[in-house]
Amino acid sequence: VTTLRGNLVLPDRVIEGWLEVNEGRIAAMGAGPARSSAVTDLGGGYLLPGLVDMHCHGGGGAGFDQGAAHAREAARFHAAAGTTSVVASIGTSTPDRLREHVTELASCVHDGTLVGLHLEGPYLNPRRCGAHRPDLLRLPDPGELEDVLAAADGTVAMVTLAPELAGGMSMVERLRAAAVRVAVGHTDATAAQTTAAFDAGATVATHLFNGMRPVHHREGGPVLAALQDRRVACELICDGHHVAADVCRLVFDVLEPGRLLLVTDACPAAGMPDGPYRLGGEEVVLHHGAVRTADGRSLAGSALTLLDAVRNVVSWSLPLPRAVRAASLDPATVLGLTDRGRLEPGLRADVVVTDEHLQVRAVMRDGSWL
Ligand SMILES: [Zn+2]
Repeated sequence: VTTLRGNLVLPDRVIEGWLEVNEGRIAAMGAGPARSSAVTDLGGGYLLPGLVDMHCHGGGGAGFDQGAAHAREAARFHAAAGTTSVVASIGTSTPDRLREHVTELASCVHDGTLVGLHLEGPYLNPRRCGAHRPDLLRLPDPGELEDVLAAADGTVAMVTLAPELAGGMSMVERLRAAAVRVAVGHTDATAAQTTAAFDAGATVATHLFNGMRPVHHREGGPVLAALQDRRVACELICDGHHVAADVCRLVFDVLEPGRLLLVTDACPAAGMPDGPYRLGGEEVVLHHGAVRTADGRSLAGSALTLLDAVRNVVSWSLPLPRAVRAASLDPATVLGLTDRGRLEPGLRADVVVTDEHLQVRAVMRDGSWL
């Protein structure tokens, strides 16, 4: 039995207390002094639930689209930074490469390195392609989808698509029938088209504001459709480059807890020095915390870890428990991971120990220190 003492970050408050871990589970927890004497005291630090990132392309110099060995390296990088559960996002590529990627990564899901795969594309709107290669985008193709889902062997957790493309709406229905979550993103849909996709079963908006038709006061587009639909959760990239701090605060105000998902959309440059990196076979450049395509035309994911995002949001005057749940409990719930996401007896012992400035001191995953 391991006993930790510190400020426990719960979904709605912070309490000074203790937490016991036994055989990979949180065995007990409470406020005040610990009942055991053999206590690891953290001296004013925080205990957070292990963070859950549902949109991530890599980190620590490695990409999820560079084979299983690199995928494990990227997952290790994020775990050491506090993200104990990560979904690997696969960007747009050729049909052959896409099938190869999911085949390689399925093994990483089966062995617990990843919690699932997120296909970001290829059925995206070229008008809102961001860093995705427009020449590789294609219209929803049910035959290709069947192939990819078969190659992925049940590991695809979510697909991002643009529902306004020809065949987009029926693809939403096909994915729902296959028990795959559907996210609306890289889309030029109107508000009405977006709502139709939600009616058909889409439940997530991929990095709200980024890669979608912007808000106009006569056409609210996907942003307002998603914000106003209680069936839908919204991803937000809080690196200070993708969305301004005041817009982020507004979104936190508008969305009830459970509907805002902090994601990194991190690329291999996360945790690395300024310079060139590879993303989806293309060169991207990290400079002063922003990652862009080599031609500078678009942001190309972020250099965040999820704990960086939590720290940013807190520095923008949002409450710590709300920021943490948006990076743990809420994405876990969206992903159907009921055994993690908060500090609670009986759940998996995924715990991030930080100092008072939310810098990582130690990470426990499944009851073991990393
Ligand atoms: Zn992405």
